[in-house]
Amino acid sequence: MTMNIEFYYRKKIPVVILGATGLVGQKFVQLLDGHPWFVVESVAASEESAGKIYRDVVDWQMNTPIPEEVAGLRVEKCVPKMEATMAFSALSPSVAWEIEEEFAKKGYPVISNAKSHRMDPMVPLVIPEVNNRHFKLIESQGYHDNGFIVTNPNCAVIALAMALKPLQDQFGVKSVQVTTMQAISGASNRQEVALEVEDNIIPYIAEEEDKLEKEPLKILGTLSETDVKPADFSISAQCNRVPVSDGHLENISVKLHDQASKQDIIDLWRNFKGEPQGLQLPSAPHYPIHYFHQDEFPQPKKQRDIERGMAVSIGRLRECSNFDWKFSILSHNTVRGAAGCAILNAELLVKQGYIFW
Ligand code: NAP
Repeated sequence: MTMNIEFYYRKKIPVVILGATGLVGQKFVQLLDGHPWFVVESVAASEESAGKIYRDVVDWQMNTPIPEEVAGLRVEKCVPKMEATMAFSALSPSVAWEIEEEFAKKGYPVISNAKSHRMDPMVPLVIPEVNNRHFKLIESQGYHDNGFIVTNPNCAVIALAMALKPLQDQFGVKSVQVTTMQAISGASNRQEVALEVEDNIIPYIAEEEDKLEKEPLKILGTLSETDVKPADFSISAQCNRVPVSDGHLENISVKLHDQASKQDIIDLWRNFKGEPQGLQLPSAPHYPIHYFHQDEFPQPKKQRDIERGMAVSIGRLRECSNFDWKFSILSHNTVRGAAGCAILNAELLVKQGYIFW
């Protein structure tokens, strides 16, 4: 379905951010400041924060001031009684499942960062450039009115799936091994973790390896009437927490079905584009993947903010003696890995006619 966007955006779409006081919630507030289509109408969080003024209760961690229009909002409870047309969810996983369900049942489109619904057969798990065809599942969810739930993947999964997508399409992927080095801002207990990783690396992140091994297979899987058949290859993951503020680095080895040259692969990544680029969506990076020839790149400090944090950086592509190829990828975990991906999903959902008001 298409519509005349310019007509609709004379007035912006009012949104609520669920979990607005958390780190990803703050990233939503920052990224939505001045957004041409969406305006933050409400902010919501736990009962402890509800009733207070946003600027007084939030522990603001962004590198820009709290937008004036949001700073003075009163934080609401997460009950689906807001004026907003749709909800962005940055809720803790312990509460996301129930609250997101309630909002969808009341007719709100919910775009979520939480893990709770990601693997539900009827819920699309979408990276806009990779598998937006999976939005079709929305039509079978059966919520009231315009309500539905769409999720975006785990922060380390997004970059991995984006790097694999053109390889899978062109050569077929047989197996993948990935070792992650994940930033502190990806942890739910950040203050504790920040102390633990000082002069240290922690070779364990609860439940993370399971997400890295399963979510890409759903994203790169085949859509059927009622669900997605997972892609037919295996992933083995090892996840580490490292003393970096933002930006997850991942070392990947991949075995392909068909032979590829180094230049073939680099060209595929450099030319990779999806519907968000074709439609020139407001949050779309010009190039979703940037390849670097310098041996020492990508690095979190140097590349995480490329294209406003929305691009994935890749480098160090070389032959692998056990697999076929190995390389390193990097992405900003709270932008492309969370709020930015959710906003890009919402922009595409508007363009495709799933969100309207
Ligand atoms: P966070 O900083 O801990 O924020 C959690 C938010 O949930 C806060 O706003 C909190 O409100 C709210 N909340 C907690 N309990 C609640 C309750 N009972 N009722 C209503 N609201 C409640 O977490 P985060 O790092 O921003 O992550 C948010 C979500 O995104 C999580 O599901 C996480 O797994 C996912 N995610 C995170 C990243 C990342 O890089 N950080 C990346 C991808 C996905 P109060 O402040 O009032 O407690």
